[in-house]
Amino acid sequence: MAEGMECFMITTLLSRAIQGERLNAQEAILLFESNSLAQIAETADALCRLKHPEPYRTYNIDRNINYTNICTSGCRFCAFSVQPGDARGWVIERSTLYQKIDETLAMGGNQILMQGGLHPELPLEWYESLLHDIHQKYPTLNIHGFGPPEIVHFAKLSGLPIENVLRRLRAAGLGSLPGGGAEILSNRVRNLTSPHKATADEWIEVCRVWHRLGGRGSATMMCGHLETVAERVEHLARIRSLQDEMGGFTAFIPWIFQPKNTPLATHPKSGTWDYLRTLAISRIFLDNFDNIQVSWVTQGLDIGALALRFGANDFGSLMIEENVVAAAGTRFRTTVQEIECRIVSAGYEPRQRNVFYQIS
Ligand code: SF4
Repeated sequence: MAEGMECFMITTLLSRAIQGERLNAQEAILLFESNSLAQIAETADALCRLKHPEPYRTYNIDRNINYTNICTSGCRFCAFSVQPGDARGWVIERSTLYQKIDETLAMGGNQILMQGGLHPELPLEWYESLLHDIHQKYPTLNIHGFGPPEIVHFAKLSGLPIENVLRRLRAAGLGSLPGGGAEILSNRVRNLTSPHKATADEWIEVCRVWHRLGGRGSATMMCGHLETVAERVEHLARIRSLQDEMGGFTAFIPWIFQPKNTPLATHPKSGTWDYLRTLAISRIFLDNFDNIQVSWVTQGLDIGALALRFGANDFGSLMIEENVVAAAGTRFRTTVQEIECRIVSAGYEPRQRNVFYQIS
């Protein structure tokens, strides 16, 4: 396409987005393929400020606690898990878990993000007992736990429908559902990267059922690996459509695949501009999402601050502990003071929130 014509088309569709008109998948692909990053960022920032005119931007304090690294899935992008029988495998002890929660509470946290590998033997009762014990000991703590592929795994192992599994976990103390394990919601990509994990339809179905039960949770996207631009947009379109239907997503969190130490280690790592462009297009395309979250854990704090001007309204979590991205060679650590400093540098007041985006 001639440069002048592309520029005209991008300007036109971005001004339609500002007027509140929804973009279709073809238009989102055009944005991904265009060179107009500054214009896209400006539009995403304007839409973010229309949705969030408040003078603050938020962050959360929580801890990512993994209950096991033993996993049957063997995803090609994973540097965290080990196969059953591997001597490096572990399942968390209660004493270790409680110590981690005590530290989280002492730092002002109000939530744990609890996820793990697809363990071949732990029965559903083990997870119920885990939730029950945490909930008894820490009744005010929100347990944000078990991404949709884990729920599908529990359903298959127990022979129960997804709804029964979710009901039982909620009764035991599950507070909200993280959108982990979405990667790219396209079956072609999933067959290449994680053929033994939940399909795109299963991922969507778990969220649908959880939302129908009145639950809330996040949606994520890990991009920059084997997907095409059209498949990235397909992912965005699927979660937008479910949000239209159920309205249960609290936030969307896109992040870039970190290849180091994974079976896809030779795959080139996608750059900062790709991250910022994806974030901005997410804000424009996902017109029914209130909150778009920064991934400073993969991008670092300075890019995180910049992202608050590319459509994100939330800095994400302090994440006292994180193991999955760290295993893939990306380790950023921070403090509440540093997060607040970055939010101020982007021109906003910092405010702590909980998982449901209520301000402390
Ligand atoms: S990404 Fe999750 S499901 Fe896949 S191998 Fe790693 S721990 Fe298992």
